[in-house]
Amino acid sequence: MSIAFYNTYSRKLEQFQPIDPPKVKLYTCGPTVYSFAHIGNFRTYIFEDLLQRHLETRGYEVERVLNLTDVDDKTIKGSHNAGMPLPEFTQQFKDAFFEDIKTLRIKPAQYFPAATDAENIAKMIEMIRILMEKDIAYLAEDQSIYFRINRFPNYGKLAHLDLDELRPSGRVRNDNYEKENIGDFALWKAWDEEDGSVGWDSPWGKGRPGWHIECSAMAARILGPQIDIHCGGVDNIFPHHEAEIAQSEGCTGHQFVRYWLHSEHLIVEGQKMSKSLGNFFTLRDLLNKGYTGREIRYALLRVNYRLPLNFTFDGLAEARQSLLRIDEWRQRLADLAHDATPDQEYAPAKSDAFFAALDDNLNISAALAELFDQIRATNKQMDQEALKPAQAAALLKWWDGLNNVLQLQKSEEPIPAKVQELLAKRAAARTNKLWSESDAIRAEIEQLGWTVKDTKEGQKAAPVKVH
Ligand SMILES: [Zn+2]
Repeated sequence: MSIAFYNTYSRKLEQFQPIDPPKVKLYTCGPTVYSFAHIGNFRTYIFEDLLQRHLETRGYEVERVLNLTDVDDKTIKGSHNAGMPLPEFTQQFKDAFFEDIKTLRIKPAQYFPAATDAENIAKMIEMIRILMEKDIAYLAEDQSIYFRINRFPNYGKLAHLDLDELRPSGRVRNDNYEKENIGDFALWKAWDEEDGSVGWDSPWGKGRPGWHIECSAMAARILGPQIDIHCGGVDNIFPHHEAEIAQSEGCTGHQFVRYWLHSEHLIVEGQKMSKSLGNFFTLRDLLNKGYTGREIRYALLRVNYRLPLNFTFDGLAEARQSLLRIDEWRQRLADLAHDATPDQEYAPAKSDAFFAALDDNLNISAALAELFDQIRATNKQMDQEALKPAQAAALLKWWDGLNNVLQLQKSEEPIPAKVQELLAKRAAARTNKLWSESDAIRAEIEQLGWTVKDTKEGQKAAPVKVH
């Protein structure tokens, strides 16, 4: 088994070789908490979840950081418009984010550092101080600190940029500030009136960090100076990740990240997602339309991360159908297997093709094709009564392994107390042959979103929606 990833830095497929196996240090850029995250953001977080879970299946111990950007222009503007203090304003979106990743069955990272945590601000100041000492950073006229990209020869390498465009001769005015070079970016922004109560003391006066230094500092403080994998969406490549490399390597003089993995854009019904086109969706928008977290997860997961994902409502309907096929197949296997011992020698259940596909730069579409091939083949065998209970049990075990990575299994919803109470009442009514009362209770149960079926073994309740 060997795993290969496409590294944005080298633009090549490379064998994955962590610094200190079986440990894998993984840094993933998280949300800016000024609003609810949208499905484009979640596409990236689900790709990273697939990456983490697959590495864990292959025996790696993943240490993951997912940061929260809770101070920047957007969060400050949002808190100002809402008339709320910044921490209170961002807290509601942090809470929403944690709820959303749970709905999408994304494994929580070990660390969710926020930029404004005191220890993180301290680390940012420490790194800026080092860059100042090395003359890689400078204090500009506006009292802000900038990174001098001319002092970092590798600047532009990740994004494969032509730096001549960023290196005009002479001094340029940009954003009303006098910077030495148009490409220089802010490490520390001097406080101004629009910042209101937001600001921290530093050796260069009151101010706040630039977005890029937040990630360099949190990565270094928690994971150390060198990490194995850094992920994000393609729109993070420049300037954000380029700047992270410049800052981190500028400080340490050593390579910051070994593998850069970026997920492609998500478009909706063939168009760029935008509020003005009415095709901008948060997770909550889709839940309100009646889709489940499991269905949305599937729709965001099934396209290989390096391909653009065209998110459509037809695609969601297909996701629902595919999940139904998996559910029905599992149910058939479970009915057949009953309590048989899995047949260890049954070849399809020993197949590693699903995981081998993921080894190949997380080729999820090939992995899912393998799953559906097995479903098709074994359904046919069951139609012909050619599958043995021990083989069905082995296939269920095989599915458990896949589901550790996919997280697509239907969750058995507990029957709510109110529904249970009504079921008991209905059973009593039926024993007394009070049929109209029984029907009235059934209608009441359906109003709560549950169906009830009468079987030989008694009543069976199931939720109306597939969850
Ligand atoms: Zn970042």
